Amino acid sequence: MQDINEALIDFIRRSPDAFHAAAEIGRRLDEAGFERLSESRAWKLKNGGKYYVTRNGSSVIAFRTAGGECRFRIFAAHDDSPTFRLKDAPELAGPEGYLRLNVEAYGGMIDSTWLDRPLGLAGRVMVRSGGAIESRLLNIDRDVLLIPNLCIHFNREVNKGFAYNRAVDLCPLVSAGELKKGGFDALIAAELGVKPEDIVSKELSLVCRQPGSIWGFEQEFVSSPRLDDMQCVFAGLEGFLRAENPEGVAVLAVLDNEEVGSGTKQGALSTFLKDTLRRMSAALGKSEDELLRAVAASFFISADNAHAVHPNHPEKSDAENRCYMNKGVVIKENAAQSYMTDAFSRAALTELCARAGVPWQRFANRSDSAGGSTLGNLSNVQVSLHGADIGLAQLAMHSSYETAGARDTEYAAKLAETYFSTPLRIEGAERIVIG
Ligand code: ZN
Repeated sequence: MQDINEALIDFIRRSPDAFHAAAEIGRRLDEAGFERLSESRAWKLKNGGKYYVTRNGSSVIAFRTAGGECRFRIFAAHDDSPTFRLKDAPELAGPEGYLRLNVEAYGGMIDSTWLDRPLGLAGRVMVRSGGAIESRLLNIDRDVLLIPNLCIHFNREVNKGFAYNRAVDLCPLVSAGELKKGGFDALIAAELGVKPEDIVSKELSLVCRQPGSIWGFEQEFVSSPRLDDMQCVFAGLEGFLRAENPEGVAVLAVLDNEEVGSGTKQGALSTFLKDTLRRMSAALGKSEDELLRAVAASFFISADNAHAVHPNHPEKSDAENRCYMNKGVVIKENAAQSYMTDAFSRAALTELCARAGVPWQRFANRSDSAGGSTLGNLSNVQVSLHGADIGLAQLAMHSSYETAGARDTEYAAKLAETYFSTPLRIEGAERIVIG
């Protein structure tokens, strides 16, 4: 339990944003002997091969092909998380003696959790190189920024509930006078070892650098930035790599931009998954009809963390369909279909949990609260198939530092491994044959 959570914490530390997460996943896939494909080149695939492809440098789809009847076993999660992103011209000069940065919210974070803690910066920078412009990853893994709270003496009401104005209260401080306006690009250039005039554009986000921790008298908890949804990404990748002899075509899809609605070229609403399945199928010599039959017989797990019962606010959770940390994988349902789970897919999933020896629990929102959304039902717009939404129970979702159950990481990895390894045949909406 300790080891897998230490590995999770290390994985998140190497993945401060979606670009670095995709690179880290790529690194692990390279190590495991996967071949990197490019969307802009022809694909030559063989049965029993291991491949991956990225889009935008921030979403990754990895797959293992198999001989025989083609069926896909897809596990999806997201690698972005709420943060603040620098605007293209990020420098805010003044007031006298200060240089601040101009940031915009990416996703729906708990604003207050980003204040009074040293922050790093990560993302990508486009750099002129010879006759071309190249994308470079940048991770300033040091404390370089801070968003200071107003002291209580200037805001006596702060403890009665305070709404931060994102254009006023949340500008990070970058210098107390040493750095002048125009100097920020020079800093970025120095980090990359390039000339400031060669920086063409950049996409950088604030990073909470507080190290992850496994804590509690019984070591029951794991806390870290970005547990939503890197805990599921990590567990999915673990299960995917452990499943040495997958049954059917194992597909791991790690997608960006879930926190802003998934409607980008690399998000769950994009054609990335559909294009990848089509090209894979064609490269293996399958017809369009064979591909459609394969999709119909396939299964999709969308994994995104869930809200554990809060110790101070148990009333926020549904009376019965509520989940707890360390009690196993959470199966989510929603009558309005923001989750894919239905009776059919739940039956398949609970059976897989039983085979994996993994406990599971139910989650539904209180009927008087709307709840969040995720990527399963959005992905299903492009590639429509049976699927279910799962997650791991956690506290403080969208805080810059979140808390989950230490036992659950292995539960999810074990379920993913079993999912990729167990024969599963879907026959319309009538029958599921497992094992
Ligand atoms: Zn999420």
